[in-house]
Amino acid sequence: MKLLRWVVPVGLAALFWAVLPVSASEGAPKGDVHRFKIGALDAFALRDGSITMPNDGTVVGVGEPPAKVAALLQTAGLPTDKVEFSLQPLLVRAGKRVVLFDTGAGKADWAVAGQLPASLRAAGINPEDVTDIFISHGHDDHLGGLLDADGKLAFANATIRLAAAEWAWIRQRPANAALVAAITPKVATFRPGEKIAPEITTVDLGGHTPGHVGAEIVSQGERLFYIGDAAHHSIISVQRPDWTIAFDVDAAAGKTQRRALLQKAAENGVRIYAVHFPFPGLGHVRPQGESFVWIAER
Ligand SMILES: [Zn+2]
Repeated sequence: MKLLRWVVPVGLAALFWAVLPVSASEGAPKGDVHRFKIGALDAFALRDGSITMPNDGTVVGVGEPPAKVAALLQTAGLPTDKVEFSLQPLLVRAGKRVVLFDTGAGKADWAVAGQLPASLRAAGINPEDVTDIFISHGHDDHLGGLLDADGKLAFANATIRLAAAEWAWIRQRPANAALVAAITPKVATFRPGEKIAPEITTVDLGGHTPGHVGAEIVSQGERLFYIGDAAHHSIISVQRPDWTIAFDVDAAAGKTQRRALLQKAAENGVRIYAVHFPFPGLGHVRPQGESFVWIAER
């Protein structure tokens, strides 16, 4: 997902904030963990928070009448004036490796987030135990937890694993200068398709951003597909994969990638981990008419 200020001018963002206030108490850092297995591996969905945006035609279903989006949300029993996105990085213990997948939004003022450190503690894991951080892409709701409030590395011993194309894209943005300076000594790049651990293979999902990647995690014949931001919303993105979402840098490539991923996942019964679907973001998709439907697991 893209940072709010990239989607709309700052003035409009402030307006959204006025329209959709967030309560400070909701932002209090409470850990929330969902533990599960991938074959022999221990895995943890770690709640970081959520992001709420208006259903006004600028975020989801761009170019569609908001009433059409509202009707779809209503059918799912969801509020129709806003769109909510959960935010839950994944952590997997793979042998001696402790691998974190994305880092949440940190203390961003455009999200109710920053719970990742508390969720990590609730899972019994110290930040210094994390050996590897897989970053699906360079948006701030995935990079935001890399640095602490003092601008220091939040995971001091972790190698930060980024697709080479995405690292190049992150570095060219002036707003990322401080982040880039802080993490450069820890970054190791890969080409999509390469493994970052024996059980973890990176997957090219370019479209949402130029170097956007997912990861396939395999153990004892069980698989989990971490899809990054190939799909953002469990109803809209899955049931209407061809609708434009403002967060996709390349809207056409994002749609093609999303439909292809969902098609393949539905055909093969793939177990999916979706970082923005309702917590814990685990489930699979089934064909429904000319699109798909999300079947949550919990
Ligand atoms: Zn995102």
